[in-house]
Parts: sequence; C-alpha cells; structure tokens
Amino acid sequence: MIIGVPKEIKNNENRVALTPAGVAELKKHGHEVYVQSTAGIGSGISDEDYTGAGATILATIEEVYAIAEMIVKVKEPIASEYPLIKANQLLFTYFHFASSEELTHAMLESGAVCLAYETVEKADRSLPLLIPMSEVAGRMAVQEGAKYLEKPMGGRGILLGGVAGVKPANVLVLGGGIVGTQSAKMAAGLGANVTIVDVNLQRLRYLEDIMPANVDTVMSNEYNLRQLVQHTDLIIGGVLIPGAKAPFLITKDMLKLMRPGTVMVDVAIDQGGCFETSHATTHQDPIFVVDDIVHYCVANMPGAVPYTSTLALTNATLPYALQLANKGWKKACRDNEELKKGLNIVHGKTVYKGVADAWDLSL
Ligand code: NAD
Repeated sequence: MIIGVPKEIKNNENRVALTPAGVAELKKHGHEVYVQSTAGIGSGISDEDYTGAGATILATIEEVYAIAEMIVKVKEPIASEYPLIKANQLLFTYFHFASSEELTHAMLESGAVCLAYETVEKADRSLPLLIPMSEVAGRMAVQEGAKYLEKPMGGRGILLGGVAGVKPANVLVLGGGIVGTQSAKMAAGLGANVTIVDVNLQRLRYLEDIMPANVDTVMSNEYNLRQLVQHTDLIIGGVLIPGAKAPFLITKDMLKLMRPGTVMVDVAIDQGGCFETSHATTHQDPIFVVDDIVHYCVANMPGAVPYTSTLALTNATLPYALQLANKGWKKACRDNEELKKGLNIVHGKTVYKGVADAWDLSL
C-alpha cells in the first residue's frame, strides 16, 4: 500500500503520525511511505532520518494526498485539506467528529474512509489510542504543578519533595484512572505526600496495592474533598465520566478553604473541566488566578512535549496502521473488532453511532 504522512498544519501541532521506526516497519512489509518535507521537524525528526529509514520525501502536502492510498495523521484535517482528500482514500487519525459538524459533513462529502484513533476500542472498553496521551498529560501535570508552586510563578513557594527536616508538599489527585495514576506515580517519585480520590472502590483497592507508601487512597465525596483541600498544595483533576461532561468536584466556594498559592491543574478541561472555576487555556498563556488559587487548564497538554508525545502515540498507532496497510481496511476491520470500532465514516455514510447521534444523521 502507498502510505502518506502530511505535515500537521493545525496551529501549534508539532507531533507527526509516523516515526522513522514506523517507516522501516512498513517498508519491511512491502509498503511505500511518502512523507511531506519537514513533517517531523517539530518532534526532532529530520527529512534525512525518514529517508534513512526508507521513506520518500515530497515537497508539498498536495503531492502527499495525491499519491497516498492511506493517509496517517495526528489531528483531524482542517478546511484547507478538505479538497485534497480523495474518494476511497483511507484516513487514519484523530477526528473527534462529535465536536465538529463542519468536519463531519466535509468527510461525508469526500467519499473517504475515516478511521478515528479515538474510537478504536478494546474488548475491555479501553481506548488504546487515547491512553498514551493521558499518560503524557498525567505525568506532565506534576511537572507543571511543581513549576507553578514556585513563588515567582504565583504559587505557595513549596518544593514538592521538601528536604531533610522539612515536610514535603501534599498533592491531591482527583480520579485514579490513567491520568491520575501517572500523576500520583510522578508526584510520589518526587517525594510528595499524595492522596488519590476515586468513586470506584475496586480501582482504589488496586491503587492501594501497587502505589508506594507515600500514596493514600480516599473515597471521592464532597465531605472528604472539603477536608482534604485545606491541607493540599497541588490538586490535579483527572476525572472522567465516559460520554459526559466532567463533574465539578472542586466548587468555587471550596477555594476559600484552600491556602493562597495552592495550584490546581485541570487535566480534564478537554471534557469541560472538574473545577467550577476552570476555563480552557493555552500553552502561550497557561494559568489564571481565582481567589488566590493558581489554575492551569491547558486543553492540549501533550502538545508541549511533541518529542515524547509523537513516540508515545506512534507506539500505539503503528500496529493498527500495519494491519490496515497489510490487509486493506475492509479485511483489517473484519479481522479485528478493535479497528472496526474506529470506523466512523465510510464512503459518504456515517457508521459510528455517536457521530450519527451528534449530528442527526442516519447510520
Ligand atoms: P480514565 O477513564 O482512565 O479515568 C477517570 C477516572 O475518574 C476513573 O477512574 C473514574 O472512576 C474517575 N471518576 C469518575 N467520577 C469521579 C468522581 N466523582 N470522583 C473521583 N473520581 C471519579 O480517564 P483518563 O484517561 O485518566 O482521562 C482523564 C481526563 O483527562 C479525561 O477528561 C481526558 O479527556 C483528559 N485528558 C486531557 C488531556 C489534556 O491535554 N488536557 C490529555 C489527555 C487526557
């Protein structure tokens, strides 16, 4: 199969959908890979790295779309890419159709086959192509939290790990899923006292078993949260209710219970946030202060670490891309239920219920 990798053109997107290792793997299976010039530069990958692995570099995005049977990308196509997409072309990327009617109609009209990273789903209902980005965001949340706890950044001026003779900081992690687990591990590794809250007792039991001694687990409810926030230096929000807006676990009146300079990182902001006072921010202007509490609410946290994010994402996407290239999308989806769940739009028809429901389309 002929595979094309365009350069991402969405604002501030520095990830790329395929690494030289991925190119080499596809070549090994007899496929041809065309990469747009400088597509990997934001992730530290040069054109020479790609050609060294067997890819052919094309100068323009038009050439990549024109030659490829399968396009692998990171973000959804933007308006300037719509006319480049060919009927029957296979697009394998994040789409998030339910949040854009314009994109949905553009892809329906294109006649292409759209297989969305975010809906590829395993039998245990986990989403293998979303997990890597939650891992990155969870780990990054501690780094960002530690930075904004510094006095010149507006925080309390406390070091997460403390030093000999001085107590470490207290970190409260809301939600013990992928984000929460990674945050807790990182904060614990730096020596902080960590508390994870979740509503899932089974999950708390598991975390209690695997986490180091400086991590406690507590049932998530308003009473417990009101107690905990009074002694917390850094709060990380990583709750998720699938298919729904995140609940506001930290309400505006709770800010008054906290010490000035407490930092709150709302990782769940992409689903509306889990603090009442949150609103989405950007890497250019990541924080704001409400009632002396520093809020960090960047909606695309992994974008700040494209090197790590590209490798983490492609580690997860490559095995699926290989199946698609080896078998073609029809057979690959017949053979693998996980991939089949990723099909959202096929030749002008919606085939994913969530997308059809979102825009009143027939399945
Ligand atoms: P996950 O499903 O693995 O974990 C969510 C956890 O929240 C679950 O354990 C669930 O039991 C728990 N939960 C639900 N209601 C709760 C409540 N009332 N109190 C406490 N816990 C509760 O999800 P995840 O992969 O960890 O993702 C968490 C959030 O982070 C999602 O909204 C995701 O979209 C977001 N995210 C954001 C970024 C970013 O850049 N900002 C990046 C990746 C993920």
